[in-house]
Amino acid sequence: ETFNSLSLSRPVLKGLAHLGYTKPSPIQSATIPVALQGKDVIAGAVTGSGKTAAFMIPIIERLLFKPSKVAMTRVIVLTPTRELAIQISDVAKKIGQFVSGLTFGLAVGGLNLRQQEQALKARPDIVIATPGRFIDHIRNSASFNVDSVEILVLDEADRMLEEGFQDELKEIMTMLPSKRQNLLFSATMNSKIKSLVSLSLRRPVRIMI
Ligand code: AMP
Repeated sequence: ETFNSLSLSRPVLKGLAHLGYTKPSPIQSATIPVALQGKDVIAGAVTGSGKTAAFMIPIIERLLFKPSKVAMTRVIVLTPTRELAIQISDVAKKIGQFVSGLTFGLAVGGLNLRQQEQALKARPDIVIATPGRFIDHIRNSASFNVDSVEILVLDEADRMLEEGFQDELKEIMTMLPSKRQNLLFSATMNSKIKSLVSLSLRRPVRIMI
């Protein structure tokens, strides 16, 4: 199988070619068609499986299906650490490099809060964040609006729970529009994950590779 058979747009295919991705990994083959349909997904996937592109490719495609005329944040990706957030952002920017007008923002600890606040005021399409810093932004910044969020990604959900972000995740999910697509990735599926899933996901498709 190639990425061409997943009916992706030209700019995304070009981005993947530039990254040197020729064939989708198993998690990508399984996740992309389901996520493209707008369905919720729970995927059991570890780092190294290609999970970043598994969610970023359909996300960018879905933004392209229905371009927005004004700047608004449409996707939130939550991940446990700043390092992971920066890695996701780097991959996402490369996949989306030929998509005109696509914008990204970071909301992570350890980087200047004011600068991030300024960047978020521009309402980037895709915001990649750690839960603690994301909460700080939505609580404190009147200018950062999450009413237009259409897709939420919970990356490494098991690690976010291990790091004690359960309450933050719940708070964030109540602040986002309830009509949204959820994509949850986790290496393990324990009872805490299951309760997070029952709280946030709607009839998810389970993908275990
Ligand atoms: P991830 O699991 O998202 O952290 O990705 C693990 C590594 O695999 C990263 O270095 C990616 O750049 C690489 N990768 C992801 N998808 C593909 C693909 N379809 N073809 C080749 N390399 C890939």
